[in-house]
Amino acid sequence: MNNGYYVPERVLVIAAHPDDIEFSSAGTVARWVKGGAEVAYVLCTSGDVGIAQAGMTRARAAEIREAEQIAAAEVVGVKEVIFLREPDGMLENTLDLRKRLVREIRRFKPEVVITGDPTIVWAGPGYINHPDHRAAAAASLDAVFPAAGQPNLFEELAEEGLTAHKTRKVYALSWGQANTFVNITETIDLKLAALKKHVSQIGDWDPEPMLKQRASELAKGKEMTYAEGFRVVTLVSDEDFAKMKGTVEAAA
Ligand SMILES: [Zn+2]
Repeated sequence: MNNGYYVPERVLVIAAHPDDIEFSSAGTVARWVKGGAEVAYVLCTSGDVGIAQAGMTRARAAEIREAEQIAAAEVVGVKEVIFLREPDGMLENTLDLRKRLVREIRRFKPEVVITGDPTIVWAGPGYINHPDHRAAAAASLDAVFPAAGQPNLFEELAEEGLTAHKTRKVYALSWGQANTFVNITETIDLKLAALKKHVSQIGDWDPEPMLKQRASELAKGKEMTYAEGFRVVTLVSDEDFAKMKGTVEAAA
């Protein structure tokens, strides 16, 4: 199944709102799923203030948006979507959120975590990066490193059968400082189809020109038509990762 490019075995994608993953990394997710990866999503909020319609309640909006997120995940072959149901628009990088994310990391045991970049504030002339995006990204990084890998931190999770887990690599979505570009030429249509599942957000707007323009800019000068860009950090060396895997396989 692996066509000569890197495909992690297990990938956890952590995002603030339903549709964040589809706007950002769903092309990479689709490519990795095609290559045999097992992928799960963690949504910190259910986007419950994101439908501005007369009579819309937060509870109803959350229901609609969770259903849209599950449908979008299915398009790219992701079957597991976890909703933490933190309040939309008020997400904070608290120790409680860190622990909740550590729980998911220790449970799913990802090789790669995909998240955002908490340092992005200014995002072009017409947008400020949403505080929930910054909080989700910061909490994810803080959960991955070093918390999830430290047996004596949140050690009470051991009562749930969860033990320390070290994530091999973090792929942080980057808007300009990417050091790794994933070729999504063959999966951009899936990314688009997944994004279009967020009917409450997209309405009549056609996201195709914007998505393709962004992806082709990232692919410029490379052997690909469309790309997604990440700042990748390798937390476990190839040598240590081989050892880790050896231990797991020996124990299995
Ligand atoms: Zn968002």
